[in-house]
Amino acid sequence: PSVRPLLAVNNIEVVYADVILVLRGLSLAVPPGQIVALLGANGAGKSTTLKAISGLLKTEDGAITRGEVLFDGQPIQGLEPEAIVRRGIFQVMEGRRIIADMTCLENLRLGAFTRPRADRGRIAADIDMVYQYFPRLKERTGLAGYLSGGEQQMLAIGRALMAKPKLILMDEPSMGLSPFLVQEVFHIIRQLVADLGVTILLVEQNARMALQVASYGYIMERGKVVLDGTADALAQNEDVKEFYLGGG
Ligand code: ATP
Repeated sequence: PSVRPLLAVNNIEVVYADVILVLRGLSLAVPPGQIVALLGANGAGKSTTLKAISGLLKTEDGAITRGEVLFDGQPIQGLEPEAIVRRGIFQVMEGRRIIADMTCLENLRLGAFTRPRADRGRIAADIDMVYQYFPRLKERTGLAGYLSGGEQQMLAIGRALMAKPKLILMDEPSMGLSPFLVQEVFHIIRQLVADLGVTILLVEQNARMALQVASYGYIMERGKVVLDGTADALAQNEDVKEFYLGGG
């Protein structure tokens, strides 16, 4: 509470196609340098929340009709997605969305698209940095479409890092991965936050894993937050255990 949140979503309402009300007064805050988890059942509005922050809502005929999104204290709702990337927010989409007929290296370079050409030396150094976190990406010289699911997820995260974002919005990084790979990806996510000071808003179906890496969590139902607290408190909460942690 003493530090200003890097991201503050204040009481937003989101409508698709002018009529479908999906977010109904959603608020959340993400402090700098932390991982915050956004949890909830299918259709609760988690992906919509990320798109409302990144400006990608527009591409699906959605709009923020009330409330505000503040990044670093500045309102960003209504900005174009590219302008939001330039401010320092990068979304890793659900289903990874890497470019299948480009190589790993080309995909990584694409992540740096908003950086000036004069940054070229640093971009090369950042590609090496991504390879340090994900050594397998360096070994894969073929087209990204031939990578395994886990490697594609790593590439999607690596591509986000190439934008040098302050905030990464991650939509279901565990989706389609084996339990072993989920562990590996989350381990690396935690490392990135510790090493680079990047901040992460993490949307996950895998609530158990998410609460292990996050410091704070929000639980959404039908377009608004119904419960929030420290990750430890949520993991101990009886309702959370029953509905989101499989009774464990
Ligand atoms: P999931 O885990 O299934 O992605 P979610 O919590 O991320 O769920 P959203 O994808 O944000 O939920 O969807 C919330 C609601 O908004 C759902 O009822 C969905 O059908 C609806 N919705 C999502 N995208 C659109 C769209 N482009 N146009 C109309 N309705 C949409």
